[in-house]
Amino acid sequence: MEKIANYIGGKLAAPIGDSYIDNIDPSRGNIYSQIPSSDQLDVEQAYQAASKAFPGWSKTPKEERSRILLRLANLIEANLDKLAAAEALDNGKPLKLAKRVDIPRAASNIRFFATAIMHYASESHKMESTAINYTLRKPIGVVGCISPWNLPLYLFTWKIAPAIASGNCVVAKPSEVTPMTAYLFSKLCIEAGLPNGILNIIHGLGPNVGGPITTHPKIKAISFTGGTETGKTIAKIAAPMFKKLSLELGGKNPNIIFADCDFDKTLSTTMHSSFANQGQICLCGSRIFVERSIYEKFKNAFVEKTNKLKVGNPFDSDSNLGAVVSEAHMKKVLSYVDLAKEEGGTILTGGKQVKLEGEFSNGFYIAPTIIEGLPPNCRTNQEEIFGPVVTITPFESEEEVLRYANGTVYGLSSTVWTSDLNRAHRVAEKLEAGITWINCWLVRDLRTPFGGVKASGVGREGGFEALRFFTEPHNICISTN
Ligand code: NAD
Repeated sequence: MEKIANYIGGKLAAPIGDSYIDNIDPSRGNIYSQIPSSDQLDVEQAYQAASKAFPGWSKTPKEERSRILLRLANLIEANLDKLAAAEALDNGKPLKLAKRVDIPRAASNIRFFATAIMHYASESHKMESTAINYTLRKPIGVVGCISPWNLPLYLFTWKIAPAIASGNCVVAKPSEVTPMTAYLFSKLCIEAGLPNGILNIIHGLGPNVGGPITTHPKIKAISFTGGTETGKTIAKIAAPMFKKLSLELGGKNPNIIFADCDFDKTLSTTMHSSFANQGQICLCGSRIFVERSIYEKFKNAFVEKTNKLKVGNPFDSDSNLGAVVSEAHMKKVLSYVDLAKEEGGTILTGGKQVKLEGEFSNGFYIAPTIIEGLPPNCRTNQEEIFGPVVTITPFESEEEVLRYANGTVYGLSSTVWTSDLNRAHRVAEKLEAGITWINCWLVRDLRTPFGGVKASGVGREGGFEALRFFTEPHNICISTN
């Protein structure tokens, strides 16, 4: 059985404690590889390697940093099929989705920051007759990047690319639930000639590896994507240490559908925003609000289309939904369906585990689920479920729907569907969210700020925001008189 290795100081390495965790294929429910169960000793070794590499890397001309990162992006593309197959097996997502979205986006992330760094300029402020200020943007040093399981290589590269491009060295921790593509990526780093110690990847459980990264006194910044509770734990430790923190956390995103929307486009996009990646995208819209006059029509069409979705093994090109990521996650998602029933909700479709045949009979599959009849303030409508489960609720007015949409602790993304331009702008501006899509969903320009408000996070990633996070401004003021 394949044993995944850590990547420290440019070399693949077994965990110091020689301890491993089982890695489970969610599509079949069986163990298929072993993950290092690393701990503080491995993190320390990674820190030492990163710290040794930092003086050289931070002084490496950005043209050279860019060239190396571009080689890495090309290697991801050259290995697209292999990486996509590994992602589908590790995560349960449809292979066609991994091929079309996850892996190409990982290459784009790296290419984007490899080129962004060439255009990144710092500011200068002239004070008429007294002085000129210029602001240096210095790499921070050794930084920590901690990523989740839902878009494994996609989100891993989204963090490490800007960190490395701007001259930092990284101790990175992929999710222990989906470690495989980060491991394959470490082999590509070796092939691309990334100098030793610039990126170090430590596999293992959250508290055992993410914990020591967070508490390490010399790791000066943490970029974290994951659940809100984990984000709180990290913030509690890192804030009194005055670490820079970027936290990309959970969501409970509203889709607001007005009667004057383009019905067919709204319906087909709502299908994607509800069930893509089995609903396990932080940006999925899980609360669908539909203006009363088209509520019945929309609901019926939505249910009918959902009934046609195929839940199947991730490697079948006909599958619209694959497996959810783990048995524990499947149970958690299904427990919310039970809760919704207790809260008085009606399951319009789905609401149960799907049992496949043959070798996939022990996999973790859930039917896409639509629930109606729940008040906006109940737990089902307030807590993040992070699976193929959405609620649908009618509304009468803009004021009412804004109250519903903004009435959770979260504020990550939202969508607005209308052909009234004035209303689109008016409603969008009033939404408490980091990102609002009007008449579209998940259209991403990597230059735009990405992140959430309230319990959905602190700080922004994307474009120059990420380069700002991974650099420390140092203002120098020169007298001119
Ligand atoms: P998680 O919080 O359980 O884990 C995320 C990462 O943190 C993993 O690598 C995990 O090992 C690590 N971790 C766990 N405990 C830790 C600790 N005590 N200290 C340091 N690190 C620790 O999240 P998950 O279940 O992997 O991912 C799903 C969550 O991520 C959802 O809430 C989803 O909304 C969120 N998410 C947010 C975004 C965004 O951009 N806002 C994107 C994707 C996912």
